[in-house]
Amino acid sequence: MEILAPDIVDLRAELQRFFGFDQFKDQQEKIIQSVLNKQHTFVIMPTGGGKSLCYQLPALLMPGIAIVISPLIALMKNQVDSIRGYSEGDHIAHFLNSSLSRTEIRTVKADIEEGKTKLLYIAPETLTKDENLEFFKNSNVSFVAVDEAHCISEWGHDFRPEYRRIRDMIDSIGKDIPIIALTATATEKVRVDIVKNLEMHDVQSYVSSFNRDNLFYEIRPKVSKELAIRDIVQIAKSLPGASGIVYVQARKTTEQIAEVLNVNGIKAAPYHAGLDAKTRSRVQDEFLMEDIDVICATIAFGMGIDKPDVRFVIHFDIPKSIENYYQETGRAGRDGLEGRCVAFFSPKDLHKLEKFLRDKPVAERELGGQLLDEMAAYAETASCRRKHLLHYFGEEYREKDCNKMCDNCKHPKEKIEVKDDMVVALKSVLVLKENYTIKTIVDFVMGKKSKSMKDFGFDQNPLFGKGEGKEDVYWHSVMRHAILHRLLRKEIERYGTLSVTEDGKNFIGKPWSIKIPMNRDFSVPEEDDEGAGSKTVALDTLLVRLLQDLRKQIAKQKKVPPWVIFQDPSLNDMATIYPITIEEMGNVTGVSSGKAMKYAKPFIELIKEYVEENQIERPSDFIVKQIADKSKVKVSIIQGVDRKIPFEDIAYSNALTMDELLQEMDMIVSSGTKLDISYYLADHVDESIVDEICDYLMTAESDSVDDAFRNLKEDDVKYEEIRLVRIKFLSDVAN
Ligand code: ADP
Ligand code: MG
Ligand code: ZN
Repeated sequence: MEILAPDIVDLRAELQRFFGFDQFKDQQEKIIQSVLNKQHTFVIMPTGGGKSLCYQLPALLMPGIAIVISPLIALMKNQVDSIRGYSEGDHIAHFLNSSLSRTEIRTVKADIEEGKTKLLYIAPETLTKDENLEFFKNSNVSFVAVDEAHCISEWGHDFRPEYRRIRDMIDSIGKDIPIIALTATATEKVRVDIVKNLEMHDVQSYVSSFNRDNLFYEIRPKVSKELAIRDIVQIAKSLPGASGIVYVQARKTTEQIAEVLNVNGIKAAPYHAGLDAKTRSRVQDEFLMEDIDVICATIAFGMGIDKPDVRFVIHFDIPKSIENYYQETGRAGRDGLEGRCVAFFSPKDLHKLEKFLRDKPVAERELGGQLLDEMAAYAETASCRRKHLLHYFGEEYREKDCNKMCDNCKHPKEKIEVKDDMVVALKSVLVLKENYTIKTIVDFVMGKKSKSMKDFGFDQNPLFGKGEGKEDVYWHSVMRHAILHRLLRKEIERYGTLSVTEDGKNFIGKPWSIKIPMNRDFSVPEEDDEGAGSKTVALDTLLVRLLQDLRKQIAKQKKVPPWVIFQDPSLNDMATIYPITIEEMGNVTGVSSGKAMKYAKPFIELIKEYVEENQIERPSDFIVKQIADKSKVKVSIIQGVDRKIPFEDIAYSNALTMDELLQEMDMIVSSGTKLDISYYLADHVDESIVDEICDYLMTAESDSVDDAFRNLKEDDVKYEEIRLVRIKFLSDVAN
């Protein structure tokens, strides 16, 4: 290859020659010039900005080999493949990491010694090895590029301790080697840290604007897991065939969401560290090839993924920092067309993340807490998201330039003055001796006479119950905003107890105006979400009541207890998704198509009427299908019962306990499938007892087995017997 002296290089021509691009992006040309001049160079450019080229082109043009330090093995391979794609021989770029065999390492080193290799990607763990340092000492190293340089800083979201030793490594190869450090995410603190740690004297810095004006930012309250998943399906359906990424904290949830998406006709796959490497790289390829449209991933996915037309990035859980959020949303819309970035936020999720921090060492805990607070502030802000983000990265930005490309600019929230109530909130924290969490303070302000209020005599204080007239959620919001405005401090290490800051004390003395948005209510009442996979939330309580009345009426007609027709979760679900055809009814939890045929008609009529009367916007073609619960097991149980196989054997062959088997059977019959278990009952329950239980169930108010047991135990009926007979009863009566 022909090497040209830097000063006479026509960079545009070289760009065209090596990469086939006819123009530099942003500040690439100046940056490349700086590297060619052997100056320390610092590049801050958003994801997708084109950082790689800033060291790739100079590496190709300069004599010797450029060492590129990069944190992820997967990322390296990707980059090496891409650069090889532009040139004739594979030897032009190599990577060196723990995944290579001895022979492969020998080949790499031979290519370097022969001067064939211009770029070597290496992980810091590999570089630090003595034999490697020795090897590079004797090579002609043109410069060192530190990619993803924020990994150096403890203030970054991705801190890697080995990154902090890079300076020592470079020193032992050669003190005068120029460095180019690149990152997409850097707050002022991180920038200073990088330059200082790498000892980049007289550094040339190139900071691009972080603004991505084609991204639409939106935060939605996460009312429940189910509703958030529904939203995701809706977003994916509204962009047919579009590529998207859904970031999720828990592995299990990635699988769950992918499954729901698939059931709804969207090609989706989970991606997380629990999958083997082969599966992961297959999923990645399929995403690139568009055999899969939506990836549901833990944060492990995305680094080094260069798919230009990702149309949406969804955060199912709120990220741990704005840096994370920005990097991940940055993967949308690299091609310049619109990308939607939706993040779900609930104070409860925030609380969970805070809890994780509690077990960390002090420094990490404090830092993590600060990053989280910043994230929460972003989620709860009522003003322009873009302005907030850019401000975080140290850029000034005028709200009016956002062009309605964030939820807050598109639908401005009405704000109300909370100055006086803020004083009440702050004073209440002091009254409670800065010893309690938000929840208790709100209880105090609302005048809830709990035991601890009385025990400590707090209920005697004049402030007790001062805020009675307003709602819980309002006070929660006031408290959160007090934290946002740094009037209160939340002590994570002290279980989230609140204390009043200096500013807070000044505020009490001389309050100033603080306005908070009215209708942005993230403070949804807490509910237990563990194992809530099948639980549904009724959005429309009025409709639920109407449905209940109808159910009662029909039950009377048919002479069966109401719960035999549809159980409560089914009604709740109907009031959430408003099914108006038999087919849609089949999507409601606990409703099989058989049951829908049998009972649904009057319910559908009621819902139709209700929807029309109240002008409810029913997302027309949008019905999220529920996943058929472990359907394989169910089928196997039904077949087993058909063949009159003893329950013990059915349980054994499906790896279920007896208890689980009965539970499954209960679900089968409740959702409208017949199960004739009389062969088993005949051997196990006395006939008179069967009759007695049936009689009871026929008139029972509730469908609870416990209630039945309480009523029947005096007659020597066993709990297990009730469960068994109930299955028969449901199967006979309801189907
Ligand atoms: P970053 O590392 O900053 O996230 P990359 O270096 O991966 O970004 O580049 C993002 C995309 O931009 C890549 O597809 C790359 O090929 C493309 N790109 C870089 N420079 C140019 C250019 N001058 N003209 C056209 N495309 C470019
Ligand atoms: Mg990059
Ligand atoms: Zn905006």
